[in-house]
Amino acid sequence: MSILVLGTVALDNVKTPFGQRKKMLGGSAAHFSMAARIFTPVNLVAIVGKDFPQKHIDFLEAKGINLSALIREASGKTFQWSGEYKGDLNTAITLNTELGVLSTFKPKISEEQKRIEYVFLANVDPDIQRHLLRHMRSPKLIALDSMNYWINNKRKSLLRLLKQVHIYVANDQEARSLSQEHNLIQAARALRSFGPKMVLIKKGEHGVLFYNDKFIFSLPAYPADRVVDPTGAGDTFAGGFMGYLAKSRIVNMQNIRKALVFGTIAASFNIEGFGLERASRLTRKDLNKRLAHFKKCILL
Ligand code: AMP
Repeated sequence: MSILVLGTVALDNVKTPFGQRKKMLGGSAAHFSMAARIFTPVNLVAIVGKDFPQKHIDFLEAKGINLSALIREASGKTFQWSGEYKGDLNTAITLNTELGVLSTFKPKISEEQKRIEYVFLANVDPDIQRHLLRHMRSPKLIALDSMNYWINNKRKSLLRLLKQVHIYVANDQEARSLSQEHNLIQAARALRSFGPKMVLIKKGEHGVLFYNDKFIFSLPAYPADRVVDPTGAGDTFAGGFMGYLAKSRIVNMQNIRKALVFGTIAASFNIEGFGLERASRLTRKDLNKRLAHFKKCILL
């Protein structure tokens, strides 16, 4: 069972207390794919500009990611994000966002890709997310992520789109900002009233909260002692979560709980290196090993 992910493939400029990287491969779809590929084939839908290095394309292909829907625009620049992390490294401070070719992006997918059942609308302009969704023939599970940039600039469009998705994925800040509720349970309840049956709130080092009408599930983060760069942790989490659900084929509470655990563990690897450095070397064996340790950490 494969997954289709729409989002950004970016050149990231990132500064953390552990160093700095310029124009490294990043983007919401790239980070998501790196975790989801461990469970299931991934079809990536995105756009890059003429400045995008061939070595990054080769790298993504070598990881088994299907790039047939990655548009390489002959003119224009690749989406660039510049961010910094300070102190507890929990919150990214966006220094600059250059949309480049993203501003004219119209996703194009094949007939075969239109029939993919598991769809992840990673962080990108909600108008582009809606455009893609219109082409999906029989989606079984649609999850959507967004961030402050779009919540602030395209709020109406995002709210309209939320009516069409099953899961809304947000970090705590974003959940508060969109729902205008401070308490996270109330925020989740308000977000649920906007449309999606399930709401997933990521709380960085404090773990994750899952909400639907029947149950609330809260999971701590993996106790990580080596945090180098959190960029993409949220997307890596989503990749592990959706990848596991697509592989298991059945979206029930038991599988959702397991998917949350795999997402949490995948994210704990991602933060150990800059950008995709660590997640790109991740294997199912690594995940299973850390899973055994995580179980001991959370059970009596
Ligand atoms: P995360 O840390 O999981 O929230 O995601 C970080 C990734 O999101 C980075 O690699 C960025 O390239 C990408 N990103 C940052 N801002 C945006 C935006 N406004 N739209 C889409 N992707 C973004």
